[in-house]
Amino acid sequence: MKPKLTTMRGDRDGAHLLVIAGVHGDECEPMVAARRLLRRLRFMRLRGQVTVIPILNEDARRRKERTGGDGLDLARTFPGRADGSLTEQVAFTATQHIGNADCLIDMHTGGNRYRIWPLAGYMVHPNSEILECQREMARAFNLPVVWGSDPALEGRTLSAARDANVPAIYVEYLGAAPFCRHAVRVLTNGCLQTMASLEMIDWPLPANQVRYWAEDARSGAGHLQACHPAPFAGTFEAAVELGENVEQGQMLGRFSGIVGERMVEIVAEQSGRIVCLAAPVRVEPGDGLVVIVEFENA
Ligand SMILES: [Zn+2]
Repeated sequence: MKPKLTTMRGDRDGAHLLVIAGVHGDECEPMVAARRLLRRLRFMRLRGQVTVIPILNEDARRRKERTGGDGLDLARTFPGRADGSLTEQVAFTATQHIGNADCLIDMHTGGNRYRIWPLAGYMVHPNSEILECQREMARAFNLPVVWGSDPALEGRTLSAARDANVPAIYVEYLGAAPFCRHAVRVLTNGCLQTMASLEMIDWPLPANQVRYWAEDARSGAGHLQACHPAPFAGTFEAAVELGENVEQGQMLGRFSGIVGERMVEIVAEQSGRIVCLAAPVRVEPGDGLVVIVEFENA
């Protein structure tokens, strides 16, 4: 299954930006924002070219779930395989598109199962020129949080971009909520602002909204699903909010079995601000419940 894409070419030279949405099938706002971006660009003079893939994982979108029918998380399957399962084939195709681009934006939300503080993230790339470009793209997207993380993480659009030396950011915007039109606006504008910073369009840059910035290249940093794992199958009831400052040892919420049995308190393993919270839906043993990040300017 080849994902549908649209390429728009400008009449002047410039960068080739790839915008991807719908890596996960339960994240609708980025898909709508990607289409809206194309409509907005029709009325702008473009330098270079932009390729937009509004729904990379069509199988997962049909199921309205994070993964497709083969159960593989596309965001852990890169670079994929040409002769693999459907998800592996999609990853393989997307890897080729990433390799053909000069830079990448990959848009997400927390889907059905997570709420994530609006953030732009990138890998702390060993090449300083690429790292600086990623920092600038993440800043220009203009969400409250910027987070540079472990460059050794595998399986992602960002790891495919890292291997191809293509500057790349991913963005996250809330989730576990009804469809959010505000998210669509913010994500669309974020792409336009990033394109302006890449000198692909003329677009007035708004005031800088970035409030918190962290760069952490330690192993595992940026792996949203690995922190504070669920001890067994059950549901999490958070006692903290996104963005809240917590201390190590603080109670983050209560976790209980599917029918309320075996309640345990989940306690902060570190101090910092809450970046990601599991929604109060069933989670499996080992699924991450809370992500805490220490910010330099928190
Ligand atoms: Zn996602």
